Amino acid sequence: MAEQYDVIVVGAGFGGPVAAKRCADSGLHTIMLERSRIPGEKVVSGLVIPIYGFLFGPEFIREGNPPLERPIRSVMNRFVKNGEIYDYDHSLRLPAPIAVGYSTYCKPFCTWLADRAVDSGVELRTATTVVDVIKENGSVRGVITDKGEELRSKIVIDAGGTQNNLSIKAGIRKKFVPEAIELYMIWDFEMAKEDVDRVFGNSMEFFHVMPEERIGAPLGYGSALYFFTYRNSIHPGMGQFLVTEGKIPNVAKLLREYFDNFTTKVRRWREDIAPKVTLRAVTWDVCPIYAGLIREMREMPYFGDGMLIIGDAAGFESAAFGDGVPSAWFSADIAAGVALEAIKAGDTSRSFLKRYEDRVKADPFIMHTITDTRRWDMREVLKSKSESELKRRIRDHWGIGAFKYKYLGGPCLKATGRSIKNDAGIVAEWLEMFRRYYRNWEEDRFDRLSTD
Ligand SMILES: Cc1cc2nc3c(=O)[nH]c(=O)nc-3n(C[C@H](O)[C@H](O)[C@H](O)COP(=O)(O)OP(=O)(O)OC[C@H]3O[C@@H](n4cnc5c(N)ncnc54)[C@H](O)[C@@H]3O)c2cc1C
Repeated sequence: MAEQYDVIVVGAGFGGPVAAKRCADSGLHTIMLERSRIPGEKVVSGLVIPIYGFLFGPEFIREGNPPLERPIRSVMNRFVKNGEIYDYDHSLRLPAPIAVGYSTYCKPFCTWLADRAVDSGVELRTATTVVDVIKENGSVRGVITDKGEELRSKIVIDAGGTQNNLSIKAGIRKKFVPEAIELYMIWDFEMAKEDVDRVFGNSMEFFHVMPEERIGAPLGYGSALYFFTYRNSIHPGMGQFLVTEGKIPNVAKLLREYFDNFTTKVRRWREDIAPKVTLRAVTWDVCPIYAGLIREMREMPYFGDGMLIIGDAAGFESAAFGDGVPSAWFSADIAAGVALEAIKAGDTSRSFLKRYEDRVKADPFIMHTITDTRRWDMREVLKSKSESELKRRIRDHWGIGAFKYKYLGGPCLKATGRSIKNDAGIVAEWLEMFRRYYRNWEEDRFDRLSTD
């Protein structure tokens, strides 16, 4: 006899636990299935969650004590020519305790989220891979696991990220096209906290280079090589599209070669960084990142009879920046609300679930996230080889220009207005969050989870 739930959530990455927790808080009998042994294990080593995720995302994260690594208070843009740094832009540098985002490791953060879901009554099964959906009369009615179990539910929420094919098996979406896929390489270097503090402070650092320098992949992310900073490590990373303008480069070779170039040519690396670091790991990941910019991908449905698809699985990862955590949280929240309404109404048909699409489309951040082309446009600037244009674009990209109305300012203003209208007390809550997170950073008091 198949087990019966109200909601099955597939995936305990960044979005799944948020959806599952909200369903359980609303009294729904909810199970979350995760293929790895530990939630977040399959997600890349670490990332920076932009502040708008915290400000407008789930309250329990804002009010909790998640395992954050380092408050990021600015993005430092550096320019490289003949191995020398010849200019930089630091136009967006915020004073403590305000931060533009927080770096975190995926494993402890997702484990922390999943624990909160379990506290709310969610049944969590790890080391369990969903291999198929159960379909009846064209409607999803549950899932089948790798252990052969059949779990039935009124709604399945697919939070399985980019590399799962559940929604394809359900007949709702198609595979990501190769043009939508970027490969990442991230080098994880250990560096003592005092050294990270001294060399980087609370900045993320970007090195922008013209193509002829061969530093920073030419067909990827605006040709920048970026450094994420953690409590006591740094992670330089680069991305490269699998196919661009009809060419298929040898991505692994290219990224290694460019990183070698960087580490041998750039004096800042050789003198300030190299003597202080030890290589711990090199991480590869495939990241369908360009999905929103490809019409075919953008227009693919993210709901079907009995199924809602959230986060990366729905293609909600940022086309411009690769930031996907906030939209995973926002879409998780919307999906859980719709699941609750559908189950209450006894109608989980596609036509009822259409309200999920309507709400996602009304969400200023999700829409901005998947359609913003700034980073892509940088490639054109690099081709033009105009340094002044490059600087202007970078300032608009990463500096104070990002808050111009047509960029991040639009969604921020809309979301701020909406949040204050719903609850004027939220401003005090935001300030308290900044203060508490900062104090936790200073006193090393974030929840430190042992996840090994
Ligand atoms: C290299 C890289 C760098 C990034 N940097 C940033 C960044 O700086 N900031 C940012 O905001 N975002 C960043 N992102 C994007 C971010 O990681 C994703 O947008 C976010 O994790 C999406 O959350 P999700 O819940 O949709 O999917 P995920 O977090 O990927 O979670 C999916 C979960 O589902 C599980 N799963 C998959 N299939 C199955 C199955 N069949 N059965 C059971 N479990 C399954 C997986 O194991 C995983 O735990 C980055 C991504 C990459 C690849």
